[in-house]
Amino acid sequence: MDLWLRESQISDAVMTYKIKQTLIRKKTKYQDLAIVDTYCFGKMLVLDGIVQTTVKDEYVYHEMITHVPLFTHPNPQKVLVVGGGDGGAVKEILKHPTVERVVLCEIDQEVIEQCRKYLPEISFALDDPRCEIFIGDGIKYVHEHKNSFDVIIVDSTDPFGAAEGLFGRSFYKEIDECLTENGIFVAQTETPFYLPEVVKGIYNDAKAVFPITKLFMAGIPTYPSGFWSFTLGSKKYDPQKVDLSSSVNINTKYYTKELHKACFVLPKFIENLTK
Ligand code: SAM
Repeated sequence: MDLWLRESQISDAVMTYKIKQTLIRKKTKYQDLAIVDTYCFGKMLVLDGIVQTTVKDEYVYHEMITHVPLFTHPNPQKVLVVGGGDGGAVKEILKHPTVERVVLCEIDQEVIEQCRKYLPEISFALDDPRCEIFIGDGIKYVHEHKNSFDVIIVDSTDPFGAAEGLFGRSFYKEIDECLTENGIFVAQTETPFYLPEVVKGIYNDAKAVFPITKLFMAGIPTYPSGFWSFTLGSKKYDPQKVDLSSSVNINTKYYTKELHKACFVLPKFIENLTK
């Protein structure tokens, strides 16, 4: 008998993944947590039935959500990740030699513990001495830390439940105050193919706060529609104008200096969401 993980990407479209083995399944204080081993994407973290990250394609999302802001900022030293309990964003952030400290503010300690145990390929950098783990709500943490970070990355679950308050104008205002003078913020901001109005609303909320606000895209096989958006808010530096010619070479599988610029060139139907 075959075993399949069935993920509802939207109410009337599902994706199914053939499973070799369920490594862990438990209810945490915040969500239903599972880590399964699949034939097609290897091991994957699933929260409330939604695929978060897989060992086969995690590099796309984690490289783009980190290297685009970190190469846009001229000297990123202090970085905050809100969410990101699988450690994938931290893994990429610590490739930047300028980074002295990265704080991971994750609400669910179980995510960190289970990813450490079952997904060491993604979570290993959580043990780096430059990484400080804070277990708590990112909304509260951002509110309580002013003028503290050069780059803030909101690597959250989708905008409902505990993550609902990590989207929207009031939170982006808090982010603005938590950033240092020329800080940069990036968030994962859903699929414009299935949820154009959600993407448009998030973009407009960020634009109301940040003088430079941009949408960029990446192709992520295990995310709904495979077409994923990120929203960047910047106080001073424009990611499309930054000179990358002398930026340090780091080991990547998806991000390139050319893609850093190209990812902001949007298909018409997505560009229309930013008008
Ligand atoms: N990095 C993965 C990816 O590739 O998309 C997904 C992100 S990570 C698993 C999402 C994390 O956000 C979850 O571990 C969840 O517990 C955390 N989270 C949700 N709401 C939060 C909040 N208000 N504060 C801090 N962490 C939160």
